[in-house]
Amino acid sequence: MNIYTHARCLEHDTGAGHPEHAGRLSAVLDALKGELGLALTWLEAPLGTESQIGRAHVPAFVELLKRHAPAHGLIRVDADTVMSPASLEASFRASGALCAAVDAAFAAGTRSFCAVRPPGHHSTATEAMGFCLFNHVAVAAHHALAVHSATRVSIVDFDVHHGNGTQDIVAHEPRIQFVSSHQSPLYPGTGRASERGVGNVVNGELRPYSGPKEFRALWSSRLLPAIDAFKPELVIVSAGFDAHRLDPLADLNLDSDDYAWITAELVRLAERHAHGRIVSTLEGGYSLAALRESSVAHVRAMMG
Ligand SMILES: [Zn+2]
Repeated sequence: MNIYTHARCLEHDTGAGHPEHAGRLSAVLDALKGELGLALTWLEAPLGTESQIGRAHVPAFVELLKRHAPAHGLIRVDADTVMSPASLEASFRASGALCAAVDAAFAAGTRSFCAVRPPGHHSTATEAMGFCLFNHVAVAAHHALAVHSATRVSIVDFDVHHGNGTQDIVAHEPRIQFVSSHQSPLYPGTGRASERGVGNVVNGELRPYSGPKEFRALWSSRLLPAIDAFKPELVIVSAGFDAHRLDPLADLNLDSDDYAWITAELVRLAERHAHGRIVSTLEGGYSLAALRESSVAHVRAMMG
């Protein structure tokens, strides 16, 4: 199993006191490196290309970020999204990691986890928001369609926040399915079950203070069957670990066991329909303790 990461993802600086800080990624990397029994192949995330990014974002958006990217200091691109000198390259590396992971999945069925930041699932086709610059999972899904002639790709998002950006980018693309569980109400305020795209969007809302029972019931009854029915040729996971009970930004009560469970279920579906092809990337998660144990649980379950 491959782990993609890059030093630039640690250098992406969001300023003092920001919840999406480099210590999050360090915690994940240290936890995975501490699992000496795991057969992990560590790879440097390659730079994504503008043509890869351009399949998910309009050219004007990429140009805007390039123009705004500071040579020194920090600039704010929305209320809570910050760019530092390393941020643009970190974003290109993160999207590049996902595309390389998709290539490895189609070449040899290799599974990958991309330990990268900034996260991506809030970025729309035209706007950066919610700590996100490029939407890496949407870039990766489009890469699978364009380069590997995939006709059915499922993006599965169990971050506690709705992946509004991913939904925005894929809602009119029937070859990409978007399946999400998230707390509602919560930022960014989208993700109602009634939002169905062209029949390719499946949103599952969890009330605040829901725990393992509600999470597993939602996935077992509605979300996993929707993926099973879609028969994806590739499963891409937006792995945010902020539905964990320790997370300071949300109110769900999952444990790392629940991340192991949902991951094993997704692996099972990938094996049934997609020759085992599954690619995952870090999204949110703001408790370092939760990130450590959840990322290890997730990667262990991906390895089967
Ligand atoms: Zn989140």
